[in-house]
Amino acid sequence: MVRPESDMTLDTKFGPFLLTLVFVAAAAAGGVWAGARFIQPHAYTHEDFHDRLFAKLKLSDAQRDSMEALERRHEEENQAIRSRLAEANRQLASLLESETAYNEDVDRAIEAYHLAMLEFQKASVRHLFEMREILEPTQRETFDHYVTETLREYAN
Ligand SMILES: [Zn+2]
Repeated sequence: MVRPESDMTLDTKFGPFLLTLVFVAAAAAGGVWAGARFIQPHAYTHEDFHDRLFAKLKLSDAQRDSMEALERRHEEENQAIRSRLAEANRQLASLLESETAYNEDVDRAIEAYHLAMLEFQKASVRHLFEMREILEPTQRETFDHYVTETLREYAN
């Protein structure tokens, strides 16, 4: 199920700005664009996601090191994308405040936001695959199950 883009824009305007890896994982796994996630107050943080996941995986020391290295790389990349998203969001917000009709500036601001979101999704899904790469086959089962389980929680 893919929601129309207009939902996203509304949520962006009226809801607090919340990004979670889970949200992105949902989009990746099911093609679900759950715009409602933006206004969920109890969304998991990236750290929550990891803590809960790692508690289930029983990582070796070597795996833990690899995960941490991966995390640092991902965090850097994410910071950059998050500032782009925040900037695009601010831009849109001030346009919504100042403009009296839909126009090209609003159009461009929305597109800038979505481009940044696209980058964020790609980076997050890549991050998921890279994490999975570090795991043994049985751990991968746990990993896949956890991701699916988390998605179901979000779907309810
Ligand atoms: Zn991570």
